[in-house]
Amino acid sequence: MSGAGRVGGAAADGEGFDGPPPDGAPAGDRPADGVRSDGVIEVVGGGERTIVLTFDDGPNPPDTADLLDLLAREDVPAVFFLVGERVVEHPDLVARIAADGHVLGNHSWQHDDLGDASPDVVHADLTRTLDAIRAAVPGAPVPYWRAPFGSWGATVDVAASLGMRSMGWHTAVEDWVPPGVDELVRRMEAVAPGGVILLHDGGGDRSQTVAAVARFVPLMRERGWQFVAPPA
Ligand SMILES: [Zn+2]
Repeated sequence: MSGAGRVGGAAADGEGFDGPPPDGAPAGDRPADGVRSDGVIEVVGGGERTIVLTFDDGPNPPDTADLLDLLAREDVPAVFFLVGERVVEHPDLVARIAADGHVLGNHSWQHDDLGDASPDVVHADLTRTLDAIRAAVPGAPVPYWRAPFGSWGATVDVAASLGMRSMGWHTAVEDWVPPGVDELVRRMEAVAPGGVILLHDGGGDRSQTVAAVARFVPLMRERGWQFVAPPA
């Protein structure tokens, strides 16, 4: 990890949601298939100029709705890592995310740090969240899990037992600060082929994130990049 990668260190925003842990994970040693030795996916595909956009901590009106409008207009798929409590508050938005063809991810019930939690506690949290997502969108696949704060602990194995692969990220841009649209776009440009970009539609005002994505998509397409969804 380098440059605009896992730079961490910012405090969580007022609602207690944030991105990567302050210390992050060690840099380097990312195998060719993009899966770390602990099973966490950071890169998807075989080195093509593809990008996977992921959005955490929602659903969160109005930013999630604005983002969905944008992604539909640009025909860009994404992964939405949903927080269970927010799913219960906004099931309509979750249904729209699925109906628009995006991939659903589990991001825990209330964004607790589960890094030190026992497998039983993790299992209960992930299952409760899965149940909420499936109540909002019956029958929808939920193929991915992302640990809050990137604090994986026992969650990778428990998620696997529940049919979910663990997805981390290649590029984090600290959009929870937020640093301004120009700076967000600049940081997103640090993505590598196949890289997963960590963004947030929830946890606070994410209008800068939506504006940055609106600029980033056409910019990268002009340069020959494609936006793809990971395998469901
Ligand atoms: Zn989060």
